[in-house]
Amino acid sequence: MQIAMKVYDLQWFTTYGMSYAEAAEQLAADGVTVVMTQNRFDPLPSSGVDQSAYLATYGDRIASYDDLAWVEAVRAAGMEAHQTSATFFDPAALEHFPDARPIDARGELDRGIDWYTGVCPTHDGYLNWKIDRIRAAVDAYRPEAMFLQFTRFPGFWENWTWNPDYEFSDADRFCFCDRCRGLFAEATGFVLPEGDLPTQAQAILSEAPDAWNAWRAQRLKDDIQQIARAMEPVGAPPLTLNTLPFPRADFDGRDVRRTIVAQDLPLLSDTISTFELMTYLQILHRPTSWVRDAVEDVRALVGSDRRIVTTMQVAPLYTDGMHAVRKRPSNVTADDLLEAGTIALESGVDGLVFYHWTDFLEDEAAGGRKRAVLRELARSAA
Ligand SMILES: [Zn+2]
Repeated sequence: MQIAMKVYDLQWFTTYGMSYAEAAEQLAADGVTVVMTQNRFDPLPSSGVDQSAYLATYGDRIASYDDLAWVEAVRAAGMEAHQTSATFFDPAALEHFPDARPIDARGELDRGIDWYTGVCPTHDGYLNWKIDRIRAAVDAYRPEAMFLQFTRFPGFWENWTWNPDYEFSDADRFCFCDRCRGLFAEATGFVLPEGDLPTQAQAILSEAPDAWNAWRAQRLKDDIQQIARAMEPVGAPPLTLNTLPFPRADFDGRDVRRTIVAQDLPLLSDTISTFELMTYLQILHRPTSWVRDAVEDVRALVGSDRRIVTTMQVAPLYTDGMHAVRKRPSNVTADDLLEAGTIALESGVDGLVFYHWTDFLEDEAAGGRKRAVLRELARSAA
C-alpha cells in the first residue's frame, strides 16, 4: 500500500530549516513510502498556494537547494521519489505559444479562472517543448513513477460541485480552436458547416457529440503515449495520472471526467498504471462518505488490475478572494482527515496521497495532531 506525500514547495527546507536527510527521515518515520516532488527542469507553475512571501524571505536558502540531493535523501530513507509535471498547465508558456490558448464553444479565448488556465492538447509545438522538459527531469532523477497532472482538456473542476445544481455551459466546453476543429473533421469525416467558430462548435456539439468526445479522449491518450515514448530511453517510468474524482452519480449518470475534460479512464487503462483521484472534500463540498462513491465508480470503470489512489486534503483551500462567495468550510480538522482516509482505505484503494506536507508541518507547529493522524492511517494501510 502506497502512502504518498506531495512535497511541492520548499518550506521544509526554508521555514522549518530541515536538512535533506532530516526531512526524508521524518517523512519515512510517519509512514510515507512515496514522495511526489517537482524539479528544476520542469517546475510546477504556482497554483492556489501563494508562495511569494516565503520565496522572498528565503531566496538565498532556496538558491542552494539541490533536486538531486533531495531525491537521493528520499531514497536513502527507503522511499520512492516520483517526479511530477503539469502537462497542460503553464500560463507563462502560453506567452510563447499564444495559439495553444484554448477556445471554448462560444468562441471565447480561455482566460482561465483564478490562477488556472489550460493549454490546448493538440498544439504540437507546446507538447514537444513540454516533453523535452519532462524527459530531462526523468533522465536526471530516474523516478520510480512519473505523475502527470493537468493532463486533460481545460476545466476548473474545483467549482463543479460546490453548487449541487451546477450546469455545464458552452463556457466549459473545449477546445474549438481552428486546429482542433480541423483535426476533428479530418479524423472523423465530419463536414464543418459554413460559418463562424460558434456556428461550427454548435454543429459539432449537436450533430456529433459522441464522435467529438471520442476523438478528444483519443487525442489526449495519443499525447500521453507520446510522453511515454519519449521517456522510454531514460527509464520508462510507469505513469500516474491525476484525474477528476466525480462519480457518475454526481451528474445524473454522466461521466463528466470524460465528456468535459476528455479523460476516458477505460481507454487510458492500458497506458496509465495508477489513477489518482483528487478527492478534495473541502474544496468540492462533499461528505467523507463520497470518497467511497468516487473510488467505487473508478474501480467499475478500470477494473482491478489498475491502481487507484485518492488524495486527501490536509488544510482548507479556496476560502477567500473570488472563492469567498462559495463559503467553503473554513477548516479541515484532524478528525476530518482521519475519517476521510479511513473510508478511502475501506473502499479498496491501492494507496493514499496527502496534499501537502507543509500543511502537516504548519499544523504541528500550531499544536495540532494531523501528523499523528497520518501515522495512524499509514499503520492502518500497512
Ligand atoms: Zn485546440
